[in-house]
Amino acid sequence: MNTRWNDLISFFKMRKARNLEIEGVSVFICQWMKGHGCALPPFGILVGPDHNQDLIRHEFGHILQYKSRGFFRFYFQVGIPSLLNLFLLGLEKWISGKNQIIPLHSELTVEKEANALSFSYFNKIEK
Ligand SMILES: [Zn+2]
Repeated sequence: MNTRWNDLISFFKMRKARNLEIEGVSVFICQWMKGHGCALPPFGILVGPDHNQDLIRHEFGHILQYKSRGFFRFYFQVGIPSLLNLFLLGLEKWISGKNQIIPLHSELTVEKEANALSFSYFNKIEK
């Protein structure tokens, strides 16, 4: 990787775990993302240090959405609405004290689609 990427990676306090990738997509460990993940195609996938395979596979589902939609449609139909939803749920948690972020976020159509795409992708490979 070139120096610009390395500067960006250290700016966000990320490290690329050696050999950690999924289907050729780089996975970066991001210290402040505990319990969460985020797909940032074409750059890669960011996950917290406590990641598991299910999370990485879910984020890979977003990469599959990116591949079928292309850059602009992915960010406008999936990335931005998903982040906005997380922001609003976070705001609701801050105001009401009720933490329903993960269950309600998972109900988004694009989140369910990412799970379904990932599930069928890995089921085909493992058969
Ligand atoms: Zn997601």
